[in-house]
Amino acid sequence: MDAKAKILEETRIMLADLSSVDDHTRAWFMKRRAKSARTPDRRHAPRLGLLLDFLFCATLAPLITLAEGVEDSFRWRWESNNSYSARSCYEGMFGARVDMAGALQIWKSHAPPNCRVFMWLAARNRCWTADRLSRRGLPHPASCPFCDQEDETLDHLLMGCVLAREVWAVFLRLWGKLHWMPQPDSTLVHWLQDKKGGPGGNMDLWTAMVLVCWILWRHRNDVVFEGMAPSRAVVIRKISEEAELWRAARLFRGTLVPVEKWRCRE
Ligand SMILES: [Zn+2]
Repeated sequence: MDAKAKILEETRIMLADLSSVDDHTRAWFMKRRAKSARTPDRRHAPRLGLLLDFLFCATLAPLITLAEGVEDSFRWRWESNNSYSARSCYEGMFGARVDMAGALQIWKSHAPPNCRVFMWLAARNRCWTADRLSRRGLPHPASCPFCDQEDETLDHLLMGCVLAREVWAVFLRLWGKLHWMPQPDSTLVHWLQDKKGGPGGNMDLWTAMVLVCWILWRHRNDVVFEGMAPSRAVVIRKISEEAELWRAARLFRGTLVPVEKWRCRE
């Protein structure tokens, strides 16, 4: 029997008598559905999906006891009064969510989307630094392009490198957060996750932190790919210039030192 004939026959069987759907038939449909999902020919896939849904309902049907003379009613299990609410629906959708370290600081910042995506990849160590390139046997810098002293890792580049720490020192002092100074062995995600600026002061700080990391990464790429000399002064100037553009785009809300003053700290 070819596949089409079997589907039609099984459909007739199910419509005629739900009890005839046995485990063997169910397994056949599951196998067929998996196969159709892998192959370009998906003509049967929607129908098979429908049949599988039907089989699922057929499995549940014997477990339901109907009471004669009692009207059906809808119940919403996520509320104690069994009534639907958008709030409980939202909580139900995200109930099993796992908060990732640093996610709040990155995604609640007002940095442009490409910078936030970069920061997220950096926090997950998904950028193409030397350690990652070497693991895949690809050409990579022999050592940190900034200091030439340590292996290049993302945490070293953005946190522990002497150039990065000098840049952080300038801006953290400016923002009154010098006690946040990253250490040589700091990791980005752990450093980031407890950084809060107090009531009303978070957004600008988080935006500014993304900006510093973004410019450090851009400078790293200029050094590696354009042959530019690593320079603390260049990084600070670029951060200041970019900060003014971000302020003009209203990405800063004015809770930090005005960005016009960032330039004089070079
Ligand atoms: Zn370095």
